[in-house]
Amino acid sequence: MIWNETAECMDREQMRKLQGERLKNVVDRVYYNCEPYRKRMQEAGVMPGDIQTIDDIVKLPFTSKKDLRDYYPFGLLSSPMSEIVRVHASSGTTGKPIVVGYTRNDLNVWKEVGARCLTAFGLGKNDVVQISYGYGLFTGGLGAHGAAETIGGTVIPMSAGNTEKQLLMMHDLGVKALACTPSYALYLAESMEKSEFPRDEFHLKVGIFGAEPWTEQMRQEIEHKMGIKAYDIYGLTEIMGPGVGHECEFQCGTHLCEDHFFPEIIDPETGIPVAPGEKGELVFTTLTKEGIPMIRFRTRDLTHLIYDKCECGRTSVRMAKILGRSDDMLIIRGVNVFPSQLESVICETEEFEPHFFITVDRVNNTDTFEIQVEVKEQYYTDDISGMLNLQKKLAHKIQSVVGIQPIIRLVEPRSLERSQGKAKRVLDKRVFK
Ligand SMILES: [Zn+2]
Repeated sequence: MIWNETAECMDREQMRKLQGERLKNVVDRVYYNCEPYRKRMQEAGVMPGDIQTIDDIVKLPFTSKKDLRDYYPFGLLSSPMSEIVRVHASSGTTGKPIVVGYTRNDLNVWKEVGARCLTAFGLGKNDVVQISYGYGLFTGGLGAHGAAETIGGTVIPMSAGNTEKQLLMMHDLGVKALACTPSYALYLAESMEKSEFPRDEFHLKVGIFGAEPWTEQMRQEIEHKMGIKAYDIYGLTEIMGPGVGHECEFQCGTHLCEDHFFPEIIDPETGIPVAPGEKGELVFTTLTKEGIPMIRFRTRDLTHLIYDKCECGRTSVRMAKILGRSDDMLIIRGVNVFPSQLESVICETEEFEPHFFITVDRVNNTDTFEIQVEVKEQYYTDDISGMLNLQKKLAHKIQSVVGIQPIIRLVEPRSLERSQGKAKRVLDKRVFK
């Protein structure tokens, strides 16, 4: 099933032509309506007339999260405030949040791309969709909500938290699809196993999971525990929210809605686009956004793009699973470590639950690297030598993947805190020193 065949199956030449026309429009919009953008283009010596095709995009300067902070709250607005009908904000871990404004047309585009995602997950008007992303300033809740209503599904606006009620609604209302973060899905899966309801009384078939990077191993874990197909929905507040891209039934990469969000991959060091298919940092330009358009926004997500036509019939470019964020990357004793690499190793190792917590510190000028990880019930014993062997086994496995050996602390099953939103898996104490 395809929601918008014209857009999703467009031939590449035609798509590039459309992207070029839309790029011209958005560049005009920011140049004539937004002073910081105009100034930056002038500094780079580029005028709106220099942008004629999508290839000209490389002439434009980048934007970043820092710009949204520096021009907080509405400095990058490119429409009059009277046209803004909704505001969202990202949960910044440090300092001020990032605020984004949407015009009515922006919200319509958001619903359109969200509908493409849910349709690709096999959902339609006969399906009950439970939205367990947080509602509010976070884009997850209302974003998924708008998408589910647009396809005509029956929406249960649960928001996150209150696990017992989540399960009660899921069970009693015949929920077919659950939308939440993958880490919350894992928590709900465990709660489902322990609940009074037999698993075969649930109608759950589809997971709409996103808002944090997750690995293939985590997907298999959730699919197995819940008995569902778990799909990745991709999005980021700065660009739109959930719906920037989605997987299809073949789960072979994330189709990007490239008629609205133009992707590039650059070398994060030099800013120069890499050769097609090569890995690098993902950059987005919003081609149709009116409220706060983003021109060449550096996501810090590391991935690569796949331009081959997909088996599902869509021609839209696909993004490989995100390897990590260049700003999530930990540098420990000079070595680059991504939490997603650790997640893969832990999920692949039979004796462990997919719950862990990384602590990095600096003691006597040396970085310390510790991972707390839950041992599965059936492997958790009082036998010290058995536990020591388990510890060694994981430490070696991790060293072979990331290059340095962590200190492993084994903890009892269900003893680490479960997340109801985005998982918090890292404490880097060095930033406080
Ligand atoms: Zn596909």
